[in-house]
Amino acid sequence: MTEILPKDTKTLKAAVDAINASDRLLLTCHVKPDGDALGSLLGLGLALKDAGKDVTFFIEDPAPDTLQFLPGAQYLVNEVANPLPEKTTLVVLDCNEPHRIGKQAQRLIEQASLIVILDHHLSQIPFCADPKTKHPHCISYIFPDIFAAGAIVLWVIKGLGWPITEDIATNLYAAILSDTGCFRHSNTNETAFRMAGDLVAHGANPYAVANKLYQNYSLCRQHLLGLVLRTIEVKRQGKIGLLQATPEMFRISGATEHDTDDFVGCVRCIDTVEVAIFIKEVYAGQVSVSLRSKSFFNVAKLAKEFGGGGHFHAAGFRKTGTAAEIREILLNKINACFKDSETADA
Ligand code: 5GP
Ligand code: MN
Repeated sequence: MTEILPKDTKTLKAAVDAINASDRLLLTCHVKPDGDALGSLLGLGLALKDAGKDVTFFIEDPAPDTLQFLPGAQYLVNEVANPLPEKTTLVVLDCNEPHRIGKQAQRLIEQASLIVILDHHLSQIPFCADPKTKHPHCISYIFPDIFAAGAIVLWVIKGLGWPITEDIATNLYAAILSDTGCFRHSNTNETAFRMAGDLVAHGANPYAVANKLYQNYSLCRQHLLGLVLRTIEVKRQGKIGLLQATPEMFRISGATEHDTDDFVGCVRCIDTVEVAIFIKEVYAGQVSVSLRSKSFFNVAKLAKEFGGGGHFHAAGFRKTGTAAEIREILLNKINACFKDSETADA
């Protein structure tokens, strides 16, 4: 295994130059932000702030409690001026689909003078090529083979030649830890360890970050997990694992929708399971689905069929409908994929 270097260095350089030349920047990431989305946003935002730029840290949803420890979280806002001040560069992190930015996406895109996308998700329709979001000045740096958007941010800050402070290092380390699943996912490689080591050398504290991310759950969350675990089911000789959370479970436990981080891992870890599904219905009729796989099954492709997306081994989508309906459609589609793969093997 060798270290992965940035691909398409020309586009990366264009992104670096565009960021360098901008005095006013609006940073944003996907709704329901996770450690990579927020760590990337705050890491880049703090570097820009330290360089004297006018930076707005915008996310539509509030940061979950478990991520409030990230340095710079106090700068996060969920409202921005309309119209945006002149010559605002919009930087989109860990996301390349406008609807994933949230309700303000369209007008932010229209009002920004320049857009820079730094992401690692497989893209559905390239942002800049989509007629709905086409923008005359858009630099799109998307590297699906890299484990975290935080890694791209580290390349960008290094490209800018700016210092990596302890606060920046902490954010980017949290980003990498989150998206590699603590260095367990298939995206973990030598570069992930090298970058993490580099960030630790710049002041990130692995024990402190791991504690804040994974030893900091509310009691309500654990109660919810208890209820959800009772729903475990397996299908297709154990190859498909399912878990479900109902509005009633949220009510009984007092947990919130942010409290379900890695519940899907509780079925993925079963020895026979290839595809893991967690169906979450926080409000009746509003369903969000997390999909995971272990080896050959491309869950990003499956999620796309429901208007979502993600990565080969981790993806998701949201949909209106009942959990039972969505479960049925999903199982049928997964069963069909298994049949196809079994026929191909025969
Ligand atoms: P999770 O299951 O943890 O919410 O998401 C797993 C992965 O799929 C993450 O990389 C996340 O960004 C992506 N993902 C989850 N939901 C959606 C969605 O609705 N659309 C897209 N494009 N990606 C999603
Ligand atoms: Mn990510």
